[in-house]
Amino acid sequence: MTSKAVLITGAAKGIGKAIAIKFANEGYNVCINYNTSEDEAINLKKELINAGLSAEIFKADVSKREEVDLMIDQILKKYSSVDVVINNAGISEFKLFTDITHDDFINMFNITLLGTFNVTQSALKKYMINKKEGSIVNISSVWGVTGASFETNYSTMKAGIIGMTKSLAKELGLSNIRVNAIAPGMIDTDMNKDLNEEEIKSFIDELPLQRIGRVEEVAETAYFLASDKASYITGQVLNVDGGEVI
Ligand code: NAP
Repeated sequence: MTSKAVLITGAAKGIGKAIAIKFANEGYNVCINYNTSEDEAINLKKELINAGLSAEIFKADVSKREEVDLMIDQILKKYSSVDVVINNAGISEFKLFTDITHDDFINMFNITLLGTFNVTQSALKKYMINKKEGSIVNISSVWGVTGASFETNYSTMKAGIIGMTKSLAKELGLSNIRVNAIAPGMIDTDMNKDLNEEEIKSFIDELPLQRIGRVEEVAETAYFLASDKASYITGQVLNVDGGEVI
């Protein structure tokens, strides 16, 4: 069993929760970040502790640097390390480009791209660079690779995450820190709860694997990329999308 610590942002539900469960089962000290889903975060911590695993909850809005810095300090106080960071927190938005307001754009930027910057830079400066070890996995999206109509705001930030991933991988290789991204396709979470059956059916009809993805399938990929099994992989974007983008 490892005594390493992993921070997963937005870990109280959806993909983040599945990633937290996976790392906990692999023996990590799991730092469950949440912003608004406090009850879900407390329940996940209880579930993991009751299973004899290690977890703690940390509240922080990733878009606010002072909250992120405090969270990293609290993690270092509790576990003495932050070895893996999974930048998973995100929001979605479906709007015609001409309907996106300045506030919409800034909000999407703050949570998605600035949030990833805040958490990554704080963990690097406070721990990883001095330690000369670590792994960062950023959750992007296939829309960040291909673009998506009615989701320009989201796609723009997810493409930015890919740019950050590749640039940081080049900058941090000398520090023995790997940085990779995952580009999920449609995964069964609350993020897609507003899509009706017909919309989902017409989407999966076009997919080679003919179904939407499960959160556990993204979690397995995140764990692989963070682990030593991916020790020679950095700066990559791995699609977990049922063959949507080939
Ligand atoms: P979800 O169930 O809606 O979860 C989103 C998570 O982001 C929540 O845990 C939420 O935390 C967190 N979050 C939002 N704003 C935050 C903030 N300011 N600070 C901290 N945490 C914040 O959606 P999901 O599908 O699991 O999404 C997880 C990631 O996968 C996102 O980055 C999303 O873009 C990406 N993704 C999802 C899909 C998909 O089809 N589901 C596809 C491609 C990419 P609280 O609830 O605590 O506020």
